[in-house]
Amino acid sequence: MKSRREFLGGMAALGAAGLSGCASLSGPSVVPGRFPVRSEVVIRKAYVMTMDPKLGDMRDADVHVKDGAIAAVGPDLPASAYELDGRGMIVLPGLVETHWHMWNTLLRSMSGDKREHGYFPTALALGKAYLPSDMYQGTRLAAAEALNGGITFVHDWCHNIRSPQYAEEDLRALRESGIRGRFSYGTAQGHPPDKTVDLEDLERVWRSWAAYSNDGLLSLGLAWRGVSTGATGSVSAAAYKRDFDAARTLRLPISVHANNRRGSDAIALLAREKFLGRDVQVIHATWVTPEEIRALADAGSPVSLSPYTELRIGFGFPPTGELLAAGIPVGLSVDTTALSGNADMFAIMKAVQNVENGRSNDEFRLPARRVLELATIEGARSMGVADRVGSLVPGKRADLIMVNTRDVNLAVFSDPAHMIVEAAQPSNVDTVMVDGRILKRGGRLTAIDTAQVAAEARAALAALRKRADWW
Ligand SMILES: [Zn+2]
Repeated sequence: MKSRREFLGGMAALGAAGLSGCASLSGPSVVPGRFPVRSEVVIRKAYVMTMDPKLGDMRDADVHVKDGAIAAVGPDLPASAYELDGRGMIVLPGLVETHWHMWNTLLRSMSGDKREHGYFPTALALGKAYLPSDMYQGTRLAAAEALNGGITFVHDWCHNIRSPQYAEEDLRALRESGIRGRFSYGTAQGHPPDKTVDLEDLERVWRSWAAYSNDGLLSLGLAWRGVSTGATGSVSAAAYKRDFDAARTLRLPISVHANNRRGSDAIALLAREKFLGRDVQVIHATWVTPEEIRALADAGSPVSLSPYTELRIGFGFPPTGELLAAGIPVGLSVDTTALSGNADMFAIMKAVQNVENGRSNDEFRLPARRVLELATIEGARSMGVADRVGSLVPGKRADLIMVNTRDVNLAVFSDPAHMIVEAAQPSNVDTVMVDGRILKRGGRLTAIDTAQVAAEARAALAALRKRADWW
């Protein structure tokens, strides 16, 4: 039961969203597309994991949020009009996701059991039949699942831009969700290997980015095909060089899949041709030589690991320990729910830890707290946003989550890092705040009507399968 003070504060915090509805004791009302205002909030008496080496963890601590930023973290902060009870809660930075083809979340669990129904042919056949509105539906479903599970930053790796309208609709879904992230502009499924990305449209979006950025929550990047072989053949050197050069000219960060198969030497080639750098994120790198690891480290290229898709599709085991030992910034990712099924970042953390300890036959190889760093501050560093998010430090933007440790799958308070990595699930995420806006409270999303999102996604997929004749 909320105190009257919290209830009244909740009304104020919901602000614009509460206009047509009334915040009730069972939870906030939902007005899709209408965000709660950024209110001043104090979270009281929580177990706070700042993920900052100097501040560390604080027991029975408060977090003061003002104007969308962390104002203070510590014991007994002054009173505020709106207070959240943090007792029994672990407060930590919002989880940072680093590579996700959000558009194909409509294709959840659709990678089948025969070669012709595997992930790549499925994404290609259905991707070609997508309408712009399907980009919106897929990405909106993904963003809703992300926020529900405590992910506050996503890297939307958009590789089905069949016309400018497809990019528009994908971006609209991101904007409406209120999530923070990077939108990486890519080609379409089935794009000819000798053609560049739509450079004219990329530049148009770049030029008018202020209209897309949602007050700076979203940034732009290039989803680069690189030197790898795609479903439609090897990308020509002329095309991938032009794409790369265009991104560098516009100062856009670049992201590329590489070395997901035995014998692949794409990273060696990227290194040779000077395609690596702090602004070039490399995805997977499951088959990587010591020389390639050195090249990544020397160039400062971050790596994104998506253990569930890497395992499910047979790319192999993420070489987490080797990458970290070399000092490479590592982030964790969903990749695609067509393979992973869901976007559970708690499960992703647990998989990374368990796979690493299993393959090294060492119980102590990858500590839980190190994995939690990858999902927060290290992930933010790998995406170039650690100055703004990834840890709960005064001055940073207020992206945080509250995990209810009194749920039955937690219930006892042991080691908080181990609890988050090994025991917690999206259902334990009680509250989610992005840029000071409360987007989940009391276990319910505040600005997204999940029943409507699910119903519209179901209808979109049914129509898509019909159009593609894919059953
Ligand atoms: Zn991917």
